Amino acid sequence: MRHSRRDLLTHTARVAALSIGAQVARPFFAVDRAFAQAGTGVTGSAAPSPREQTGMRLVLLGTQGGPNVNLQRAQNAQAIVVDGRPYLVDCGYGAVRNLVAAGLGYTQVGSIFLTHLHDDHTSDLPALLSLQWTGSRSQPTDVYGPYGTGALVEAAVAFAKANADIRRVDEERTARPESMFHGHDLPATVTAAQAFADDRLTVRTIENTHFPERSKAKMAYRAIAYRFEARGRSIVISGDTAYSKNLVELARGADLFVCEAMDQSIYESTVARAKAAADAGNANAGVLRHVADTHSTTSDVGRMAAEANVKTVVLTHLLPGSNRAGTTEFPDSNYIDGVRQHFSGEVIVGRDLMVL
Ligand SMILES: [Zn+2]
Ligand SMILES: [Zn+2]
Repeated sequence: MRHSRRDLLTHTARVAALSIGAQVARPFFAVDRAFAQAGTGVTGSAAPSPREQTGMRLVLLGTQGGPNVNLQRAQNAQAIVVDGRPYLVDCGYGAVRNLVAAGLGYTQVGSIFLTHLHDDHTSDLPALLSLQWTGSRSQPTDVYGPYGTGALVEAAVAFAKANADIRRVDEERTARPESMFHGHDLPATVTAAQAFADDRLTVRTIENTHFPERSKAKMAYRAIAYRFEARGRSIVISGDTAYSKNLVELARGADLFVCEAMDQSIYESTVARAKAAADAGNANAGVLRHVADTHSTTSDVGRMAAEANVKTVVLTHLLPGSNRAGTTEFPDSNYIDGVRQHFSGEVIVGRDLMVL
């Protein structure tokens, strides 16, 4: 029963993702967006939850690219769920709400992996940790990511302090946020390095190319990609990145290659705007150059997928995604056609709450 429902969901997602011209501005799945029940972080929804399924599943929680906020797609986040245990990968704005919408809840998330510390990947982290404390999570939560992750978690603990102090006095609670939440800085390596393992999941990381050399020379911050393996299945999450040889190595033979993607026409217009802004000495030239230089076009995604010989590509962190003011989204075919220049396997255009 559970399996057939799961297969139906996956099949539905694939058919919809592959149908040319399908413009669906809302999530595919009928989900109960009721607020979390007090203290559990789990919705009362009757929708099937990946928590009740066996094997390793990917749940897309936020598929918008970039730091803007829109009401169709949340900022970047995804869950890896292994035999019902959720692990969170990135935590952009909207991640907590979509953890609830997906039926995963937020109090059971004990391991969080960050690809880099741009705010479209971290904005919901203070909210998540504070709500876990208020939701009476009793186990520690560990946050893994590149340089700066430990400091980021310390800042989230500082954010949680006033709420905890008030409730410890007023509600006679005893737990302290600083003893529950732990950040771990991971090295950014040029060959794959094991970053985490427990009884269900192994995790390896590698540095990608989101931060250009000119920036890395002036800061210690780095950006990394992740490979998750469990139950004979492998899922690679690119993080934000331009074309990356390291990422190709990490993704080799993966079942799901979850990669950020920028539409080719958006890339070309951004390059032109960056040049014009630089020529005119405009203040936004640096932002436009960042967008053009540090992300992957759909063609780049196809090239990496082909070189790594992955089975299925899942596009996320979409640019423009739902950020085209006053217009509908690009049809899925726009994104798929770019990948198809190099890759002939299955291509899925991600949407929030898709389960794969
Ligand atoms: Zn991003
Ligand atoms: Zn970024």
